[in-house]
Amino acid sequence: MNDSLFSIQSSNPTHPLQGRRRAAPCEALLLTELNPHAVVDHPASRAEAIELQSFGTLREPCPKCQKPSLHLILRQDNVRIAHLLCIDCNSCYDAHYAGGAPALTI
Ligand SMILES: [Zn+2]
Repeated sequence: MNDSLFSIQSSNPTHPLQGRRRAAPCEALLLTELNPHAVVDHPASRAEAIELQSFGTLREPCPKCQKPSLHLILRQDNVRIAHLLCIDCNSCYDAHYAGGAPALTI
């Protein structure tokens, strides 16, 4: 079935984007695709899925596969840049508000 590159661990049910957002609820996120190799440290061996800690999921669908599979991935041992990861198509995204402010900086 779905042969994901990533193994998602979800231990924090709080969604920082929704919980701390003070902006208007109608404000849409603008997603920009990132190169997964630029944001996540990939081991030399691809035999095992990369373990990532998810800090929540988004209601917005993935721009590429249109599935609501976006996970918020903050900086951690093997993550260089906070980003959104679609676990269906393995795409990584940066997110900004319409006004240009970064959405993933807490
Ligand atoms: Zn996707």
